[in-house]
Amino acid sequence: MNDSYLNFVNSPFGARLARSLGLPKPEVLRRYRTDRPEFEGLVAIGAGPQPGLLDALADVIGRLGVTSVAHEGAGLWMPLANRHGLMTGRFEPVDGDASQGRLAALLFDASGIDDSSQFDALYAFFHDALRSLGKCGRVVVLGRPPEACANPRQWTAQRALEGLTRSLGKEARGGITANLVYVAQGAEDGIETTLRFFLSPRSAYVSGQVVRIGKAASGGEAIDWKQPLTGLRALVTGAARGIGASIAGVLAAEGAHVIGIDIPSAKGALDATMRQLNGTALAFDIAASEAPAQIAAALDENGVDIIVHNAGITKDKTIAKMSEAAWHSVIDINLSAQERIDDVLLEAGTLRDGGRIICVSSISGIAGNRGQSNYATSKAGVIGRVESMAATLRERRITINAVAPGFIETHMTATIPLAIREAGRRMNSMSQGGQPVDVAQTIAWFAHPGSAGVTGQVVRVCGQSLLGA
Ligand code: NAD
Repeated sequence: MNDSYLNFVNSPFGARLARSLGLPKPEVLRRYRTDRPEFEGLVAIGAGPQPGLLDALADVIGRLGVTSVAHEGAGLWMPLANRHGLMTGRFEPVDGDASQGRLAALLFDASGIDDSSQFDALYAFFHDALRSLGKCGRVVVLGRPPEACANPRQWTAQRALEGLTRSLGKEARGGITANLVYVAQGAEDGIETTLRFFLSPRSAYVSGQVVRIGKAASGGEAIDWKQPLTGLRALVTGAARGIGASIAGVLAAEGAHVIGIDIPSAKGALDATMRQLNGTALAFDIAASEAPAQIAAALDENGVDIIVHNAGITKDKTIAKMSEAAWHSVIDINLSAQERIDDVLLEAGTLRDGGRIICVSSISGIAGNRGQSNYATSKAGVIGRVESMAATLRERRITINAVAPGFIETHMTATIPLAIREAGRRMNSMSQGGQPVDVAQTIAWFAHPGSAGVTGQVVRVCGQSLLGA
């Protein structure tokens, strides 16, 4: 769907008019394109006392091939960067308030901060550096999971990083995102896929999020960064159109063989989408009682490595006016069908060990929404699946995560009444709706072989929506 306001205020005439009337001007977000470098520009490094992640950071920055500049608070970076053979320099704050747009990203290693008396290091870095960050720049703060900290002071200090990061996302303008990554002790060599995702244009609409990386049982395999899913099979439900078609497209572009499922009445669209991707089309209603067995049979002895539970419907009414059928079908398609399918695919070993389950939730499942009690119940239940299954699945090296989209421009949101639709679009830090590809790219990061330590996570793809924040 088209956001006419965004297009208008980014035209020469519209931009002048918006400026003179003081209207908001949403940024045209920089998204991933195969014909543009994914990583470029300067990355400023900041650090608190005893930073424990600089070595891991230097490894990743070296592989990305970007130039780093060290803030005066990150004294350890220069010698370390030299040892790693990195191009590096000193960060120089800009004079005045005007953004000079010099920097592409700000990275702060806060892992060693173990007391609130040490927060001045955060202030010094972001006070100096945020205004030097260019359009669609990236802020990533790295810490340690508070719940694993040795004492209350340390837990408190690490927990405080959430407030800082979310505020930076709200203060920054011009398509800048800010996210927080908690890295468990011993998981340092598992940060690369997550860091790449948050530094890349692939995460254009993901801001204000907190992600935990744990120690993965596997690792060390060589990764093909161009086509990381080569040789893997991915099942995507609701793949005929909208977000599902985009997920199928991104996973196929990353090398996966996609098996797309959609309802029999969408067979034409599904066949067309799968033909373009050299995928396999299965016209099944996922809510039918025979669907799990049919899916397992269709996957046969080849099994599957990635399951994306994307199919979903809405039937909105306040609960007093909602029919029992509307209540039941939304819960059944959006939640119970996922449970039934996974039970069969896990039991039979059709989902291979080391696999990925990725569910599509919604910010309605986090915040609740008037007129969506059925939908919000189902989507909160999806989060429950992720939280309840992550620990058990770890034994089979299977990860389970969810994306919770906010307002994404699709058929689903096109049916929302205009005034509510416009509010949904603008009430976020990016002042615009997201695109299906923003959800698809987030799913591709979860699906990546290098994301083995990322499990039990719910990441909102909502441009830092005010709903449920
Ligand atoms: P969409 O309506 O454009 O696409 C959903 C697809 O799922 C359709 O192709 C539909 O035929 C298929 N489907 C529905 N019931 C099915 C069934 N029983 N069996 C098989 N396939 C079935 O919707 P979308 O906007 O692309 O949404 C995709 C997912 O993202 C949904 O789970 C939705 O709840 C979620 N989501 C969307 C938004 C948004 O803003 N668009 C926001 C939050 C969450």
